[in-house]
Amino acid sequence: MKLVLLGPPGVGKGTLAVALKDQLGLNHISTGDILRAEMKANTPLGLEARKYVDGGELVPDELVTRLIESRISTPEIYSKGYLLDGFPRTQKQAEDLNEILNKLDQSIDRVICLDASIEIIIERLTGRRLCKNCGELYHVKNKPPQKEGVCDKCANSLYQRADDNEETIKTRMEVYTTSTRPIITYYEKQGKLKKVNADTEASVVLETTLSFLNE
Ligand code: ADP
Ligand code: ZN
Repeated sequence: MKLVLLGPPGVGKGTLAVALKDQLGLNHISTGDILRAEMKANTPLGLEARKYVDGGELVPDELVTRLIESRISTPEIYSKGYLLDGFPRTQKQAEDLNEILNKLDQSIDRVICLDASIEIIIERLTGRRLCKNCGELYHVKNKPPQKEGVCDKCANSLYQRADDNEETIKTRMEVYTTSTRPIITYYEKQGKLKKVNADTEASVVLETTLSFLNE
């Protein structure tokens, strides 16, 4: 199965992606995670990406599209199926993805579009914490670690993303509205899209999504 996850920042795409990955055995491909790993390692790509990511702007289309193409054209990845999280994010990316898929004789089966109220989104983003080492996601209220600031899984310290502050969140929401939201229509026209209300707990979002995938 090949899936795309759409939705505003902080809506819970990453949380749902990890759950779907575990349930369905898919590869989870998150452009945000890939870019943060490159930034952490200070690779040329990471240094380029940082100019945009920390301020909440999108990195150039060609850069992320190349990252995606190299992954989805790898047999170990496409044979198991995959879940694209954070890509496509612009009309251009959606069209380029379509071309790449045609070339590879692949297609997207379903697009899940999560949505939540702005209050919930801001609460999720400002309370979000991540493990420096393994990337595990936490939330100060909704999913606190057993010991404050420490990862339950690997005991490394937690951090807050540089772009999870109110000012940058505002920019990211604007970027979402202008550049990403239009591609909902693009996938709706293809009859592949399902809107899922993500105002509820993660387990409910997962159940709703799984029942849609089984339709
Ligand atoms: P969010 O919580 O905002 O959904 P992500 O982890 O998906 O965060 O992305 C973080 C940042 O990485 C974005 O704000 C953007 O700068 C960059 N990024 C991720 N995916 C893309 C993409 N498909 N196109 C352009 N930039 C991207
Ligand atoms: Zn950890």
